[in-house]
Amino acid sequence: MKVRQILESKGGELATITPERTIEEAVGELGRRRIGSLVVVDDAGSLIGILSERDVVSAMAEHGMDLTRSHVRDLMTHTVTTCRPDDEVTDVTVKMTDGRFRHVPVMDKGQLVGLISIGDAVKARIQELEHEREALRDYISSG
Ligand code: AMP
Repeated sequence: MKVRQILESKGGELATITPERTIEEAVGELGRRRIGSLVVVDDAGSLIGILSERDVVSAMAEHGMDLTRSHVRDLMTHTVTTCRPDDEVTDVTVKMTDGRFRHVPVMDKGQLVGLISIGDAVKARIQELEHEREALRDYISSG
């Protein structure tokens, strides 16, 4: 299965944030949207980082619970692994597992077009296995 297929079935908008927003605002977004990460974009909408709930938890462990003076740019990861719509989901899953992160933004011709989470990838794989199982059952019962 291709990344494109997951994006098509997911639909919806991509959750982004700009670097000058506060961590309090970012946490509010994560909570309201019930998601684990925000893609950080500049004013032109270009990808410049990613902020995940893990970054917030790590900062709290290091600096204490009060992050009111921190901004997205202070905690975000700057070097982001991305994928393309034509990539195989299994290859993206390997990138996530090897890199120990659960989110990968999708870029198409230099434009940010979506995000794949480990949950999306696992769901897609389960659907694929289910289809294979049905095809095998049909094949066996028709023989
Ligand atoms: P996550 O497992 O996605 O919540 O993120 C774990 C850590 O990896 C956090 O520090 C994130 O900022 C970082 N991270 C998340 N996604 C990516 C990515 N696609 N490329 C690089 N780092 C990432």
